[in-house]
Order: sequence, then structure tokens, then C-alpha cells
Amino acid sequence: MKYHLVCPECKNTFTDTGFAFKCPHGCYSILKTVYRVKPAFKGEGLWRYMEYLPVNSKTQYGEFPAIFKSQEYSDIYESEIYFILNGYAPDFGVRMKTCTFKELEVLSSLKYSDERKTNIALSSVGNTGNAFLELGRYAENIQIALFIPEEITCCLFEINRSDNVTVVGVRGGYDLATELAKTFAEKREGWKYEGGGLNFARRDALSTMAYGFVEKLGFSPDYYIQSVGSGTGAIAFFDGMKRMGMKPPSVILAQNSPFLPIVEAWNKKLSKIPDYSFDPVEVLYAKVLSNKNPLFFQKGGLKDILEETDGMAFGISTEDAKKAGRLFRKIYGFEPYPAAEVALATLEKIDLRGKKIAINITGSGLDILKKDYKVREPKFDYMVEAEEDLEMIE
Ligand SMILES: [Zn+2]
Repeated sequence: MKYHLVCPECKNTFTDTGFAFKCPHGCYSILKTVYRVKPAFKGEGLWRYMEYLPVNSKTQYGEFPAIFKSQEYSDIYESEIYFILNGYAPDFGVRMKTCTFKELEVLSSLKYSDERKTNIALSSVGNTGNAFLELGRYAENIQIALFIPEEITCCLFEINRSDNVTVVGVRGGYDLATELAKTFAEKREGWKYEGGGLNFARRDALSTMAYGFVEKLGFSPDYYIQSVGSGTGAIAFFDGMKRMGMKPPSVILAQNSPFLPIVEAWNKKLSKIPDYSFDPVEVLYAKVLSNKNPLFFQKGGLKDILEETDGMAFGISTEDAKKAGRLFRKIYGFEPYPAAEVALATLEKIDLRGKKIAINITGSGLDILKKDYKVREPKFDYMVEAEEDLEMIE
């Protein structure tokens, strides 16, 4: 195998036996991959970085974000601002059919499952689900069961649903959808829970943005700005810079007020993730930033990374996010996703003068995509609300 796994807590190393995303010694940690090969990146798109992904074959499709200096933003903020532009923006040479960086993760996760001939179940409220719906077809040997809370979906769409994806609507919230996806996977032979941010196939796919950045620009930035739900992308960028032998940037995280679990845990030095009395998916403008269980306190997670890089975390009001979105539209002529607007608004919060900043535009261009493709809301194949309903799923 071209990689092994290491636990950042107990430092033990392991061979990947497939879908074991936790340290066997019971550590509260995020298992990381260590690749033995020195990379010889070749080809284009996501699969250029296959040597640093825990898979052995590629899919035909593999879009990659555009990475470039924004002269307009650099002038405004008297600094050097570099975009990692994920989305559907043909003028910038990026045509992600699901419009967000989630599709990098999903392609890698699909291949990981496909090569192990293991069917996967997972829950999603939006972008991850879209990516599985569209890209599932590239994992020819497996079935995918996608559990989606009926009421609280956001931005869910499909162009052509992959035949091997079953969409299960859940009468209840995101937590129930996740619980049912886990139960479904446990009870069926040949199925596994997909693993989310603990799945290193996903995280390593996001690390490719760091490799792309270094290859294109030749340096690691002073700051890396991203809006976060689980925090997977920020962890992956940090890990990616380390794998490239670079000093990781100071990591700047943003969330959308009033749901600020990561921001509050960091700024108030809390010992656990705070509870909120409302359902964030119902309340938030940037609904994808609604994760109640971010990868924060686990060894190797956000807290460690913020400490090591002298990072910062900001709560962004919806008003500020929208204002930042308007500026982006005015300059570039297409729509950033709300979560990307939250990241853009963070530029107003720090003195950036003279610094080099990478900002991850995690999603954009649905408005352009809709002109090129017929986009529709996906229909549920089944509706469930409790464990016993899972038996009807074929
Ligand atoms: Zn361990």
C-alpha cells in the first residue's frame, strides 16, 4: 500500500484495513495518512494528485478549482489575495458540475468505496448530497444510500441522477438522518457508513488544493481563510501544506451568526462545543455551515491547527456576508454561495496589508450552471422516520 495511517494522539501507525476511521486504541483523534511515495504529480484536474490519495484508479471526471491572484481584491485590501475558486465558472476554466468543493471529496470517497466494493450510506443536507447524486455513477461497483432530512434541505439539486444512488427522505432533522444512515449501514451486509470528515479519502482530496496552490504559485500564504462547518477543508489544507514540506499558513476560520460553535469554542477557550437552542439549518443563511459536531477537539483537529498556526476565528453576520457577496458579483459577474460570502466577509475583519492570503471560495456559479444545464430538485425514492422503516429500502 502506498500509505499508512498514523494516530496523532498515540502516534501508533496502522495499515488501512478499510473504513476504520478511528484509532484502534480508542484515542479521540483524526487518523491521518502518510504517503510513502515521493509525489510525481502528472495529468490534469483532481487526479493529477492521485499519488497522494488513498485510491489506485481515477475517474474520467475530475474537475479542479481555479487558483489565481485577484488583482481587484488585492487592490482593495492592499495585499496579495489569491482565490481558490471552486464552482461552475467556465470563464475561469473551472466547471464543477455540482458547484462546490464537496465534489473533490466525493469523487475520492466514491473511488475509495468502489475499490473496496463496499456500498455506502450517508446523510447530507446539501452540497455533499448533490455531489453523490451526480457523481455516484463513477463508482460502478457499488450502491449509495443518501439520507436527506425532508424539511431542512438546502440547495439540493440534480442534473442527471446516477442510477446507483438511492435517495431516502427522512421525516426529522439532520441528526436523525445521520443516525438512520449509520443504522442502515450497520444492519446490511456489504454496507458501511461513509465516515464524513473522519474519512481520510475525503480529507486528502481537499488537501489537493494546497498542492495545487504550491505548484501554481510556489509558496505557502500567510493566511488561509475558509468558512467552516465540520472544518474538514481547513484541516486538509493544513495537512496538505505539511505534506508539501511548506510552513502551513495561519488558519482563519469563519462561521455564520448566530450559529458559531467553532468560533465560540476557540475564542472563549471552551472545553466542549457549545449547545444551541435552535436548529441551525432552519436559522442560518449559509445553511451548509450548520454542523453541530465539528472536528475541533479531536487530536489533529481544528483546535490543534489554530494553536499551531496562531489562527483566528470570526462570526460573520448575514448582512455582512451578503454585502461581501455583492462585491464579488460586481467584480466577477456571477454568484458565490452563501458560505463563500461568509469567507469573503472575513477579509474585512483582519488587517491584511502587505500579506499573502489564500481564500477558499468553496462554492459558486450555480447561476451560470443553470444556464448550461437543466437543474431540478431530486425526488425521494423512500420516506422513513424510524429504524423499522429501513427494511423497506431495496
Ligand atoms: Zn491513537
